[in-house]
Amino acid sequence: MSMRGDLLTIATDALSAIAAAGSLPDLEQLHARYLGKKGTITTVLKNLTTLAPEERSAVGQEANALKASLTAAIELRREQLSDSESPIPADFDVTRPGIGMPDGGLHPITQMRYDLDDAFLSLGFEVYDGPEISSELYDFDSLNFPADHPARESMDTYWLEGCDTRKGAQRKCLRPHLTGGSVRRMQQGTPPFRFVYPGRVYRNETTDASHERAFFQYEALMVDRSVPFSAGRLLVNTILSAVFGRDVPVRMRAGFFPFVEPGFEIDMQCLVCEGKGCSVCKRVGWLEVMPGGPPHPEVMRAAGVDSREWEGFYINIGLDRLVMMRYGVNDVRLFHSGDLRFLSQFT
Ligand SMILES: [Zn+2]
Repeated sequence: MSMRGDLLTIATDALSAIAAAGSLPDLEQLHARYLGKKGTITTVLKNLTTLAPEERSAVGQEANALKASLTAAIELRREQLSDSESPIPADFDVTRPGIGMPDGGLHPITQMRYDLDDAFLSLGFEVYDGPEISSELYDFDSLNFPADHPARESMDTYWLEGCDTRKGAQRKCLRPHLTGGSVRRMQQGTPPFRFVYPGRVYRNETTDASHERAFFQYEALMVDRSVPFSAGRLLVNTILSAVFGRDVPVRMRAGFFPFVEPGFEIDMQCLVCEGKGCSVCKRVGWLEVMPGGPPHPEVMRAAGVDSREWEGFYINIGLDRLVMMRYGVNDVRLFHSGDLRFLSQFT
């Protein structure tokens, strides 16, 4: 029999053996038998020099082609066997007790955020997600911040590199508050609106016991034909009683914020002391939990909403304060401490 006839026989035998291999060790044996250092194909290739020159080239080509097809067949079978093999070792005792995983849990501020989402969703609000990288246009110009307002300085806001000489939409920043997102959302539609837009905000300040560079805020806006202050107050009452499961006394005082006119400080009665006065409420019995008020006409104009036809009401909820009230926690720093002894109480 010629060398080429031998190769044909080898090919037939090898391919059927590979296809029939029942385990990975069997397959490795076949690999060694045909393609290993002393394997059949390797030997044929090594001995090419002993052949007559006219036969050498043809046999060499066929042997190399066979080597490639056997390599591919072995790889294919290896994948099939690996897929079908159980990942559990044969000597694994499934009746032995496992290693328990510690229970995780949501941070109390996250829990509060979700509870607020639920309360607002039940009132027909949508949850809007604005971008964390915003611009001077949205976060200052559109919100009626005067050109020389200190918040526009780099000591208060993180301006992106290369923005020093730019203005408006080209001057990018990490949003220092959420309110710019309300303008974006209003530009995307037509009134009436009811939406909340929770998220992380950034302040360029030195961190200390009561200051963080990044923290969460929660804002809501409703815009309709007629939104009297009493509607804003009713909204606050409804949300607070949904979150706390009871009626919570609320009061509104005048306050100044550039994006509202008039502006309100909205206080809730301190639930730690029930209004009697304690260290959390600094002995006054009330706690500032949110600024709010009707959008300033300039803000409405920036958002493309005609303030002669539409009215609105903003509220900006202090999540930290609400969580302190919910659990009677008297130190806000605990929430940002990452201390598991504190946090694991809320899981
Ligand atoms: Zn109190």
